[in-house]
Amino acid sequence: MAYKGSFRIKIKGCESESCGFRCQDVCPRGVFLAVPRHRDRSQHAARPRYRIVPRFRELCDGCRECVRACPRGGIRVST
Ligand code: SF4
Ligand code: SF4
Repeated sequence: MAYKGSFRIKIKGCESESCGFRCQDVCPRGVFLAVPRHRDRSQHAARPRYRIVPRFRELCDGCRECVRACPRGGIRVST
């Protein structure tokens, strides 16, 4: 695809536990990865809380399914 890899993805105010990782579910390109929040690594290692990061941004094709799916309105996809 001509525009592959040309999108910026910003995430603000993610509440992944309450939304159930919707952006990860709907993204057809597998862009998102759930990573443990830094402050929880030592204290709650058995049940870490997660945040979502656009780890594989270069695969994004700009469909914006994630933008529509996020209940927090926290995802922005731009060129
Ligand atoms: S715009 Fe589409 S391909 Fe890009 S991260 Fe969102 S859902 Fe995935
Ligand atoms: S859809 Fe929004 S709130 Fe849910 S995990 Fe993704 S960024 Fe976080």
